[in-house]
Amino acid sequence: MFDFILRNARIDGRDRPVDIGVREGSVAAIEGALPEGPPDRSAEGRFVCTGLVETHIHLDKAGILDRCPICEGTLKEAVTLTAAAKADFGEEDVYRRAESVLRQAIVNGTMVMRSFVETDPRVDLRSFDALLQLKRDYAASMDLDLCAFAQEGLTQEMATCDLLVSALEKGATSVGGCPYTDPDPVRHIALILDLAERFGVPADFHIDFDLDPENSDLPALIKAVEARGLQGRVSVGHATKLSAMRPDRFGELADRLAAAGIGVVVLPATDLYLNGRDADHLVPRGVTRAHFLAKKGVRTALATNNVLNPFTPYGDASLIRMANLYANVAQLGSDADLELAFAMISDGAAAVLGRERLSAPEVGQPADLLILDAENAIDAVRRIATPIAGYKRSVQTFERPLPSILGNVQTRSE
Ligand SMILES: [Zn+2]
Repeated sequence: MFDFILRNARIDGRDRPVDIGVREGSVAAIEGALPEGPPDRSAEGRFVCTGLVETHIHLDKAGILDRCPICEGTLKEAVTLTAAAKADFGEEDVYRRAESVLRQAIVNGTMVMRSFVETDPRVDLRSFDALLQLKRDYAASMDLDLCAFAQEGLTQEMATCDLLVSALEKGATSVGGCPYTDPDPVRHIALILDLAERFGVPADFHIDFDLDPENSDLPALIKAVEARGLQGRVSVGHATKLSAMRPDRFGELADRLAAAGIGVVVLPATDLYLNGRDADHLVPRGVTRAHFLAKKGVRTALATNNVLNPFTPYGDASLIRMANLYANVAQLGSDADLELAFAMISDGAAAVLGRERLSAPEVGQPADLLILDAENAIDAVRRIATPIAGYKRSVQTFERPLPSILGNVQTRSE
């Protein structure tokens, strides 16, 4: 009756561990105890969820520290160094670097991912073609949403617009812009939203990436989204100006973002690394408080952004580590706030991408199952829990044995 049963799993919304019965790639039953017989595995009382959701990563420009000599550690330098390196990107080179990060994301429990991929005259469609091949090759392990992205501006380099169109025609599933690198941010926003409407895909903007509370591009974006009726189809990354605004202005923009259905993705690693470089004491965090936005009704997510490049010279594509980093920086302590941090890398993150995906396994849904070495979501974020095994549509995608202590240890704990 079942192809596989995952037994003794703790899931959200249930007081006691359950058995999860899987048939034809979907969850067919969730009960206290399912019959013996089918192939099975015990989660040994650990927390099981439907996998993690990466809303914002750049697979195409990951792993390029060897070609980018970082001196200042500023956003301007990161953009300049990466743009120069990009001209020499080859298709195989991009595939190899992106694959390495994708494989790390898989063993870290990520099952859905939006990757930006830059399509401009420096790189043409070489990065896009590489990631399209990667998407096909890893389709069984990852739902990969490729976002054709104008990192270097648009209105001053309209050839990028044609390349975005080519990428969308070839299979990009979202389109991204970066108003802060464009001399005309408002027109940049309009051009990207035009493409989103023309191809029926979501739009995602890198926006407001500094700590000056003035000159935000968010009001123009909110206005455009509402005028076009694109509520629920647009998200933004960084938005660190919000962290520099006084509470009344922050609250006002939060309400307007919520009303416009614009999702906000906070990128703690990059925002911490690049912001506040001009301070010589009391260096600001420069990380927008996503949990405050969430409490105002804004769809919010925490994400990786860059891995091993001038924007973020660190990284392992671990979303649980990122949620823990955010919790630490944003001073979260209560169970409720830690639970919210987990939501921002799971079901809340899915909502930012416009997907309905609950964190708890449900009958009738695809059997995407992640076993974490934790009691629950709160515990997972507090301890940066190790992902032990993952199943995508019921097929196992990774196994990660826990470490063992060796040697002649005397323990009294049993
Ligand atoms: Zn980014």
